Amino acid sequence: MTQAPQSVPFTTSNSGIPVESDEHSLTIGPDGPILLQDHYLIEKMAQFNRERVPERVVHAKGSGAYGTFEVTNDVSQFTKADLLQPGKRTEMLARFSTVAGELGSPDTWRDPRGFALKFYTQHGNYDLVGNNTPIFFVRDSQKFQDFIRSQKRHPVTGLRNNDMQWDFWTLSPESAHMVTWLMGDRGIPKTYRNMNGYSSHTYMWINGGGEKFWVKYHMKTDQGIDFLTQEAADELAGKDADVHRRDLYEAIERGDHPSWTMYVQVMPFDDAQDYRFNPFDLTKVWPHGDYPLIEVGRMTLNKNPEDYFIHIEQAAFEPSNMVPGIGPSPDKMLLGRLFSYPDTHRYRIGPNYAQLPPNRPRVDVHSYAKDGPMRYEPARTARPYAPNSYGGPAADVQQFGDPAGWHTAGEMVREAYRLHREDDDFGQAHTMVRQVLDEAARDRLVSNVTKHLLQGVSRPVLDRALQYWRNIDKEIGDRIAHNVNGG
Ligand code: NDP
Repeated sequence: MTQAPQSVPFTTSNSGIPVESDEHSLTIGPDGPILLQDHYLIEKMAQFNRERVPERVVHAKGSGAYGTFEVTNDVSQFTKADLLQPGKRTEMLARFSTVAGELGSPDTWRDPRGFALKFYTQHGNYDLVGNNTPIFFVRDSQKFQDFIRSQKRHPVTGLRNNDMQWDFWTLSPESAHMVTWLMGDRGIPKTYRNMNGYSSHTYMWINGGGEKFWVKYHMKTDQGIDFLTQEAADELAGKDADVHRRDLYEAIERGDHPSWTMYVQVMPFDDAQDYRFNPFDLTKVWPHGDYPLIEVGRMTLNKNPEDYFIHIEQAAFEPSNMVPGIGPSPDKMLLGRLFSYPDTHRYRIGPNYAQLPPNRPRVDVHSYAKDGPMRYEPARTARPYAPNSYGGPAADVQQFGDPAGWHTAGEMVREAYRLHREDDDFGQAHTMVRQVLDEAARDRLVSNVTKHLLQGVSRPVLDRALQYWRNIDKEIGDRIAHNVNGG
């Protein structure tokens, strides 16, 4: 039998009982059958079979770290949120991810990146669950599931399938702005440290006087934007599929702590009514010229998780976690996500997921929730119902009765957003191609789209895709058509 070296602790079962061997099961004689009473062997096998929780349906492959958010400017005229008051420092957790790939997929596939932040504030957890893009492919939650299925694997072949992707995109012209983004340089960031994050959605801020504003968040990387070409990304996918996870972990380990500066665009509440674009449409940005960026603070990631599974795999972000001073907007994608995120966590890691280490608020919880699988924190209330006359918690309406809402009236309908005068599906994509990208970036865009279309996209989807690009920009569309048609 191997002797344990003096310096290491002795192995125990999960119940803390010293085990007799790390190597040999309990048998009748050295060649005999294994005994059911070898409890440690059985515990080991059974535990192993249950090591995985279901992977996230989207954003499965992720990396993350803890850090601090510090307010550097005074935005208290716009919000009373505790974490956004001048000079405030708040502990936080960030998780970055790809969207369509599975847990083991390469970090360098062309895909948007998730940019999820959890702030452990004095008023509970505030989650800002964004992407590295200020926009998205669809504008109504009704289409989200369809969109994701078109990006994932084909039900027959089990392969990802460009024909499904372009079929959905070309039948959903509101995707044009985001597809242009995805096919451009920012569709494959060089590292997680070299990308921006955006709330993408519009949120509401409420100040101490009850005044409301619409805001969009921008987290600009202090490391500078950088990207990978398709060729470099393809090579890295084979050589080091975890390159972005490795980069983030190693940077933090060596003390090179990445940071992002938070800015907001602030729109006065009443502007939304007849702004030139619908300000709640997730496929649109607010041009900087209309609503300039206002600095808020800086987040710095400075601590790697001590256990990846516990802190990152079990991290549960939910846009519904909004603290006093912050509320939702009529963005139909945001409103759907308010339900779907906590729902997926209940399924994936259980209804008591808020008690897991990365999700536990750093303030006392006085909720009336009780029981359920894997609950281990005792109820803090003697009577599990409200109201009660035994000292149970009572909502403080005076202090927290937030007016985080907006006036609405009308028939119940299933209709698209009311159009504002410059609303369309292709205009902002065209602006990006013509006014933001330079000649070299446009060449890379044409090359990326051409290669993507030549991988399994068949007619009539292919013809629709060429028209889709001509709608975005005639010249770019013609160049792609020329390449695809073998010109
Ligand atoms: P601006 O000239 O003020 O902003 C253009 C922005 O484009 C830059 O600030 C930068 O965003 C971003 N950008 C630069 N290169 C790329 C790229 N390769 N791929 C994607 N984005 C890039 O103009 P407007 O605000 O009037 O916006 C014009 C267009 O720019 C929009 O139609 C939209 O496509 C794009 N854009 C706008 C953003 C906004 O919030 N207004 C944000 C990002 C893109 P950043 O500073 O965030 O790095």
